[in-house]
This record gives sequence, structure tokens and C-alpha cells, in this order.
Amino acid sequence: MSEVAARGALIERLATICGAEHVLTQGDLSAWESDWRGRRRGKALAVVRPANTDQVAQAVKACAEHGAPIVTQGGNTGLVVGSTPDESGTEVVLSLQRMNRVLAIDKANMTVTVEAGCILQNLQQAAHDQGLLFPLSLAAEGSCTVGGNLATNAGGTQVLRYGNARDLCLGLQVVNAQGQVWDSLQGLRKDNTGYDLRDLFIGSEGTLGVITAATLKLYPQPAAQMTAWAAVPDMERAVTLLGLAQAHLGSGLTGFEVMGQLALSLVARHFKQLRVPLYQGHPYCVLLEQSDQESTEHARQALESLLERAQAQSLIEDAVVAQTQAQARELWHIREAIPLAQAEEGLNIKHDISIPISRISEFVSHTQAMLAREIAGVRLVNFGHLGDGNLHFNVQAPEGQDARHFLQTQEARVHALVYGSVQAFGGSISAEHGIGSLKVEELAHQKGPVALQMMRAIKQALDPQQLFNPGRVLHL
Ligand SMILES: Cc1cc2nc3c(=O)[nH]c(=O)nc-3n(C[C@H](O)[C@H](O)[C@H](O)COP(=O)(O)OP(=O)(O)OC[C@H]3O[C@@H](n4cnc5c(N)ncnc54)[C@H](O)[C@@H]3O)c2cc1C
Repeated sequence: MSEVAARGALIERLATICGAEHVLTQGDLSAWESDWRGRRRGKALAVVRPANTDQVAQAVKACAEHGAPIVTQGGNTGLVVGSTPDESGTEVVLSLQRMNRVLAIDKANMTVTVEAGCILQNLQQAAHDQGLLFPLSLAAEGSCTVGGNLATNAGGTQVLRYGNARDLCLGLQVVNAQGQVWDSLQGLRKDNTGYDLRDLFIGSEGTLGVITAATLKLYPQPAAQMTAWAAVPDMERAVTLLGLAQAHLGSGLTGFEVMGQLALSLVARHFKQLRVPLYQGHPYCVLLEQSDQESTEHARQALESLLERAQAQSLIEDAVVAQTQAQARELWHIREAIPLAQAEEGLNIKHDISIPISRISEFVSHTQAMLAREIAGVRLVNFGHLGDGNLHFNVQAPEGQDARHFLQTQEARVHALVYGSVQAFGGSISAEHGIGSLKVEELAHQKGPVALQMMRAIKQALDPQQLFNPGRVLHL
């Protein structure tokens, strides 16, 4: 059979499995073929949108028989070009968009079971409607899916208290490379029965199988939440403030974000409707969130007393406490607008890194000085989840320079400088976004031969045909 005929036969078979209207081959497919950052536009053999796990399993079998690679896609909000097809026109995009249901909430077990295509915000709302909390929270929550969150082990703003996606997951349903369904959705908090397969699939970025459903932990909703915004003189004192807040608020500290002055000035420039407090004249601002199981008054007293102590120790220069939920939301909105403001400013060189918290301040001073020395006028847009040691240490072209040209000529050099420094300080080149196709080379340099050998052995054992996301995460 010719190549064209073979492709036609696969498309026909996929149409029989999922319905012809859910196998897209023509028209504007850019929503599935382009990544969120606009870094790459690929070409899919087809976009397939199954309605249930059985259709996923059949579609995987069909692709395996035809030797067609599969790129699994959720909300396509990933930041490392892992969910879009390459330019070859041979990869099938398997979109979980239609598998978006909340299947069950078990209040006694404090768990929720959802299909993998469920939008994160819809899951949060479903938990909220039952008086419960699903704490994973990130700026893309209106579009990203639970499957994508788990496949990338997403972090976000509440990791400090509740952990990342891995910590919130009790069980998965997965379609493997043979088209078989593995189900561990019982919602068990203890299950020491051999190797933890769930943990293999979480963070595997679609390279080992297709996550079709998940059982996740729920928490009681806090009785009250208070949010404060404080100006700090430098990163060292931001870290000391984090220690003080942890000692003072204990597990009530649910968010601790740091934002550099340039990051906030970009928000002020591109989102004029947002009033950014205290950023002028202060190198960093910190956003603190406290969740309280008692009352608003109790929360307010604890937070205000923390801020008084911090001021007495010269850790903060100024601070505001949100007086209403609407004000608190606006402060969070400013934090979440930073990546969007950066995108408005132009293409930039992103680094999603983690560093031991005790070394963050030294890392920032050292790396910032090195960048300034090497590339005149370069702008560092530094912000992130300081409570988790996670910085988005992004580099923007000098003011007035063409961003695309800057990226083309400086990206490799900037990455080498920053990742070299990350390694010297004992950090990680991907804290929460994953590897995708953007960081495959860096992973190979940084991971170490023993780790790489074990990772390759796992990939080969579970996906010997290289069916799932070939070339992403690892080169074999
Ligand atoms: C504005 C913005 C803010 C963000 N903030 C954060 C943040 O604070 N913290 C953070 O961790 N991330 C953040 N991200 C990136 C983050 O990875 C994603 O938003 C989200 O977790 C990905 O979900 P998705 O459904 O869009 O996955 P996609 O982008 O569709 O896919 C991501 C990866 O997962 C794989 N995948 C998707 N679904 C499945 C599945 N069902 N089974 C197997 N593999 C699958 C894909 O193949 C791909 O490799 C942000 C992104 C944006 C755009």
C-alpha cells in the first residue's frame, strides 16, 4: 500500500472509532498544531477527539498498527512545546477535549474522579460546589486539563501547602502503548503493592501512555483567607521573610510568590486596568496568602502580627493587606498577569528553574551580574513561587531591541549561562513546566548518565515502538 493510501486507511479507521466529525484533517487546525507561546507550528496527520477511554484504546491500537506516532493533547497550554505535532505531517494529535466530565465526588473519602480532559477550573468549581477544595491553581486553569496537569506534574501557587499535581493524585486510568487500559482509580491513600506505576505516568509528558482519568484528593475549604502584598529590599530578605512566615503561620501559609520590579512594571505597562501596588522604588514585592480554619478575624490578626514583626526586622519596606476578597483576587490577578505581560512585551527566553531556597539569593545575584556583564542592557524578568524554590528567571531583549532577533541570536548563549549557573547551585532546569521538545538537549547534559539510562530503559519497556510523543523529553 502506498504511503498516502496507508494514511487514508488510518484516517478511515479512526473515523469509524470516534466518528468522522471527530477526526479533523482539513480547515484551520492551528489551535491544535501551534503551541501556546507561538514558538512552533507543526502539521498533524489528523486531530482525533475520542469521547471515552474505550475509543482512546482503540485509536491507540489503530495508530500502533499503522506506525503513526501519537501526540496526546489536553488544553495545549504547556510551555515547552510538548503537546503539538512536529512538521512531518505524520503525527496524530489525540485531543482529550471531549473527555471532560467530573465522574464522581466521594465526600467521605475526600476524593474526586474526573476524566483527563476536564478543565482544571471546572474541577475546582465542582469541588467548591460540594463545600470542598481542590487546591491545584495556576494561571492557565481556565484552559488546561487535569490530564495535562498530571502529565507535566504541574505546580502553581499552592504547592507550598498542598504539593504539586503528583501529591494530589491517588490513582490513574491509563491507556498503554498496546492499547490496554490500566485502572487504579480506587482512591486509596495507602497501597504498597510493588512499583508505583502512577508515579511513572505523572510527569511523563505523554511519552509513556495516555492518562484517561484520575482520582484526586480534596481538602476542606478554609474558613477564611487573607492576602498581603509586601515590598522587600532584596531577595535575601524575601527568603528570610518566607522563613518567618512559615514559623508564624505554619501550614496556614498557602502562597508565597515573589515578583521582581521589572516583571511588575511590564504588568503596569500592558494591563493599565490593573493597579500594581508598591513596585516603584522597591526591587521585589512578595504576595503572601494565609488560609485559616477559624475565622477572618483570626486570619487578619495572624497576618498583621507577621507583617509587624517583619517590619521590625527590616525585612519589608511597606505592605498592604487586602480588605476584601475582590481586592485579594486583584492582587493574585497581577501576579498571574506577569507571563501574559511578558508575552505582550515580545518573545522572551524562559527559564523555569528551582534552586535550594537557602541558595536562591546568592544564585540570583551571581547570575544576574553575569548576564548583565555578557549582554549589555539585557532585562531580567524574575518572578515565581519562592515558597517552593521555583523561579521563572526569564530574559527579555534590551528595551527597544527586536525580540525575535534577540531570541535567534542570544537564546543558546543565555540558556548556557543560566543553566550552567543552575547546575553550579545544585538546582533543576525544569521545576514545573517539564522538558517537552524545548529542553531535550539540556536534560541530556544535566541529568547524569545513570538517570538517563534508567529513563531510557523505562521508555523502551513501556513504549518499545516509540508511539507516544517520540523525541520529546528523551532521545533514545
Ligand atoms: C499562562 C500560563 C501559566 C502557567 N502557569 C503554570 C504554573 O504556575 N505551574 C505549572 O506547573 N505550569 C504552568 N503552566 C504550564 C502548564 O504545564 C500547563 O498550563 C498545564 O499543566 C498543562 O495542561 P494542558 O492540559 O494544557 O496540557 P497540554 O499543554 O495539552 O500538554 C502538556 C503535556 O502533557 C501531555 N499530555 C496532555 N494531556 C495528557 C494526557 N491526558 N495523557 C498523557 N499526556 C498528556 C502532552 O502530550 C504534553 O506533553 C502555565 C501555562 C500558561 C499558559
